[in-house]
Amino acid sequence: MNIQPNVSLLALNTLAVPSRAQYLAQVESLDELKEAAAFASQSNLEMKVLGGGSNVVLPEYVSGLVLRYMSTEYQVINEDDEHVVLRVGAGFNWHDLVMKTLSEGFFGLQNLAFIPGLVGAAPVQNIGAYGVEVKEFIQTVHGVIFEDGEVFALKNEECHFDYRESIFKHELNNRALITAVDFRLNKQPNINVDYAPLDKMAQERGVPSPLELAHWVIDVRSSKLPIPSELPNAGSFFKNPIINESVFADLIKRYPSMPHYHQSVGVKVPAGWLIDQMGFKGKTFGPVSVHKKQALVLVNKGGTGKDVLAASEQIKLAVYNQYGIELEQEPRVFT
Ligand code: FAD
Ligand code: NAP
Repeated sequence: MNIQPNVSLLALNTLAVPSRAQYLAQVESLDELKEAAAFASQSNLEMKVLGGGSNVVLPEYVSGLVLRYMSTEYQVINEDDEHVVLRVGAGFNWHDLVMKTLSEGFFGLQNLAFIPGLVGAAPVQNIGAYGVEVKEFIQTVHGVIFEDGEVFALKNEECHFDYRESIFKHELNNRALITAVDFRLNKQPNINVDYAPLDKMAQERGVPSPLELAHWVIDVRSSKLPIPSELPNAGSFFKNPIINESVFADLIKRYPSMPHYHQSVGVKVPAGWLIDQMGFKGKTFGPVSVHKKQALVLVNKGGTGKDVLAASEQIKLAVYNQYGIELEQEPRVFT
């Protein structure tokens, strides 16, 4: 294990904002993590966790010790005729995991193909795409609490998963590091093509196998989402707001064509549509612009974290003034 001082994080965040960590440690085991934590405690450094950097906005200087838990453990820990339970290290690349499980005949994660980042971050915002959320397949999340070094194994229901939410963004925010996740996957294919682009493809081509569906998802995503190495971005910059029925009733009168999805409580409205309606696609805010093909994505062309947050604030204000809806930012802001 190696703890380095004053390390550039430019290549470790997909928005490509310039940033330096006071210290960076990449660890692969609980023993190495203990060593790093001892160093942080002796030097009075706060510990902060970074994965693939695809859902963060970094400042120019990150004080403390930035930890990356890079274990790529992958093992079957239980199985029967219908299911398999896999333990996967936090450092495993998410998309590689999706493709590996499919190639082994373990199904469920196909709609979540092509999401950047590492396994350890997947529970943090309960990653979701095309009508599937990772919480449906998480059995247990393993990790360590910073204050006392205690190891935990939180069962699914203890993680308080919700739409892009979990305990790791609330009670355990900045207090825990996830070391591994247990996924319970199906041995029988389960196909979800509810979202319009996938439904259209299924009508044209027939019901896909899980692996085919993963490739459809990759194709649809590639057609509208910018590749971070070409156009630095953090995916959707805002969560889709879920508004209450009376706010919705008022808005739909004013905007009859507004797409909307009724939830068990409230109505989900696509934030990208709200931003697009104001003519913001392609609009620039200094070095940051709204992506031409997808209004929910902010693209950074040489700006800092501050520039990105300033653009985000201007968009939030414009949306609030127009619709009375407060957008919530999705990427996590480091201090
Ligand atoms: P990071 O960005 O490094 O970290 C994100 C947060 O998780 C931070 O708060 C960090 O402290 C914390 N964290 C990371 N690892 C750990 C750990 N081991 N223990 C504790 N905390 C940790 N998200 C979706 O939900 N659906 C999508 O479809 C989607 N599409 C995307 C498309 C693009 C092009 C991009 C750039 C992003 C997209 N995202 C999407 C967002 C992002 O990919 C996911 O949130 C992903 O899970 C972040 O993983 P990461 O390893 O990069 O996490
Ligand atoms: P889209 O198909 O243009 O749809 C716009 C929004 O409408 C989506 O965000 C989605 O909400 C919602 N939606 C569409 N069909 C729906 C349905 N049948 N039921 C309920 N809600 C529906 O979206 P997109 O931007 O191309 O993204 C496709 C999928 O990938 C979405 O699920 C999106 O969340 C995910 N994605 C996420 C990120 C990220 O960084 N978080 C980045 C890229 C793509 P939901 O977002 O709630 O699904």
